Amino acid sequence: MAIQVNKQLMDKGQVGAMIEWLASFGQEENGGVTRLLYSPAWQDAQHALNKFMEEMNLTTYFDSVGNLFGRLQGTDSKGKTILTGSHIDTVVEGGKYDGAYGIIASLIAVIRLYNQYGYPKKTIEVVSLCEEEGSRFPLTFWGSRNITGVYNLDHVKNVQDANGISFLEAMMHAGFDPGKYTSPARKDIERFVEIHIEQGMVMEKNQNQIGLVSHIVGQRRYTIHIKGESNHAGTTPMYFRKDAVSTACYLISFLTEKTKELDPSLVATVGKLTVKPNVPNVIAGEVEFSLDIRHHEERIIDQYCHEIFAEFKRTLESLKMEVSISQWMDVKPVMMDIQMRNLAREAAEGKNMRYQEIISGAGHDAQVFGKACPTSLLFVPSRNGISHSPDEFTHGEDLEIGIDLLTEVLYKLAY
Ligand code: ZN
Repeated sequence: MAIQVNKQLMDKGQVGAMIEWLASFGQEENGGVTRLLYSPAWQDAQHALNKFMEEMNLTTYFDSVGNLFGRLQGTDSKGKTILTGSHIDTVVEGGKYDGAYGIIASLIAVIRLYNQYGYPKKTIEVVSLCEEEGSRFPLTFWGSRNITGVYNLDHVKNVQDANGISFLEAMMHAGFDPGKYTSPARKDIERFVEIHIEQGMVMEKNQNQIGLVSHIVGQRRYTIHIKGESNHAGTTPMYFRKDAVSTACYLISFLTEKTKELDPSLVATVGKLTVKPNVPNVIAGEVEFSLDIRHHEERIIDQYCHEIFAEFKRTLESLKMEVSISQWMDVKPVMMDIQMRNLAREAAEGKNMRYQEIISGAGHDAQVFGKACPTSLLFVPSRNGISHSPDEFTHGEDLEIGIDLLTEVLYKLAY
């Protein structure tokens, strides 16, 4: 799809055209976008972006896992690089803005800076990260975790997608031969700045234009298995039952109430429940449920887990039933760099933007970079807080305000 993008990218309104253009790669009939890692739509998008970056006179290159970079060389960079961007992949039938906006905003900001001030002192690179969502293969942050040296090919050797296509085979077909893999790990990244849609409704409710992210929450996920005794629904008196469903119900209400008691930012979700035998006239012998816990402070998560699991054990012991608690995800909370947040705050104040500090309840590449270098994450509002959906939307005016702020932040960091 050819679009008329103003090559100077100085005009307001270009961001909308760029969003539509990038969304055309992998666009579904319902307006959603599906761009899974290494898929044809993903390849088309990365190559189109590469071409666009070249036309903007950035020096472009792919690393060996498919992260795309557009480099604006600094005059006095001392080998250090300011990196800015976001991820190109989407969930299945995702929105046009998640990830894509961060790449487009970074590109526009860098081109505007170059047009106005020429070459920066410090090198700036725009990155289109190959993968963040975990929507094709069961792993996340493949792009940023390669750049920060956390992941390499060993982590995907036995990984397959839902169709049985191996990770390495998919990589090969996309033009990234695993046999030619060299580590994309970078030692020269001085700072990382990401701008992203909020994917929540806090900023819209507060009528703010900019979110300065202070923390990205930590996440733990568990599978809880309760074993009781399956029996006849008519002949088993209530006091003699080992009913896994009624026990699970008690535990779920307990854990839900406990979050409210402990901390207003703490969230816990039971989103999946499996009942055995799942028959109307049989007392359930087994229940398995998922538990997703998020907060920006590790100690709060620790305290919460300690208290709820103690109650789980007490309850099950008194009922002479069994419980097993298995954890399968543990992502630590990450604090964004305070200095960079202050710099963004000053920039927002200087431009009379309505801003707020905010905690991100969703995961972002910034949390991976945040462990490796000073990192800043900026938000623009999402209409009705909707994301990962064809209905995802951010007003053009808000997109433009975000770019304006990002441009100022990059100017302060690199010029
Ligand atoms: Zn995202």
